[in-house]
Amino acid sequence: MNFSGSFDKNTIGRLVEKSLTKLGEKASPELCFYVGSVVEKLLEEMEADKVKEEMVCAGRHFYNMGFMAGASGNISVRTGSDSILITPSGLNKGSMSSADMLKVNLQGEVIEESVRKPSSEMKMHLASYRHRPDIGAIIHSHPPFATSFAAAGLALDMPVLPEAILILGSVPIVEYGMPSTDEVPEKLIPWLPDHNVFLLANHGALVFGADLKEASHRMETLELYAKVILMARMLGGEKLLSAENLERLKNAFNIR
Ligand SMILES: [Zn+2]
Repeated sequence: MNFSGSFDKNTIGRLVEKSLTKLGEKASPELCFYVGSVVEKLLEEMEADKVKEEMVCAGRHFYNMGFMAGASGNISVRTGSDSILITPSGLNKGSMSSADMLKVNLQGEVIEESVRKPSSEMKMHLASYRHRPDIGAIIHSHPPFATSFAAAGLALDMPVLPEAILILGSVPIVEYGMPSTDEVPEKLIPWLPDHNVFLLANHGALVFGADLKEASHRMETLELYAKVILMARMLGGEKLLSAENLERLKNAFNIR
């Protein structure tokens, strides 16, 4: 929950005024506004601290899973209409701390002083948030099986496992873009409206979620799905769901 969104300074100010009135005290509008502003800032900081901790946990989790070897991979979470928290560049994602997270605006300017530099793939994150106001978190990693499909230029867009269809949707191959340059978002933008999970050609995987939990589920599901498809191909090839069963699934879960 976004505390600052639910309890802004005006709402808090009104609550202060109400409480004081109940106690028989009179509060000036200036005092109510001041208290409201202080509490709003406090709630924002508490919420940001919680998100930073969640990012640290996600980094450790995906490092331990072998998805973010060395200093690879990056995670970001939207914290406001024009701000995100993003992991730093060049740091092992298994040993980050909350203080390593950077707050940047959607133009990529660091808005809270830090000794760290934001992820070198920040442009990819920013373009995604700008084009998809509905998403709240992004994870980029190099899971071995999904990255093998990305390296082979093979999309995971055939209807095979119901769970993958529901959680991932169709997973396209996004044309190669030189890492950390504008090429990456340029190649990605055409795919953004219709997908939440992507294979970046000759690179790795990218997933979106309404929040970090949903993005994490998608990243794990993607890797399992890639592993299953690879093994199915070793056993003679995956069998697609029939058109009838696919239709039933889509109707039952109300998906496009
Ligand atoms: Zn990468």
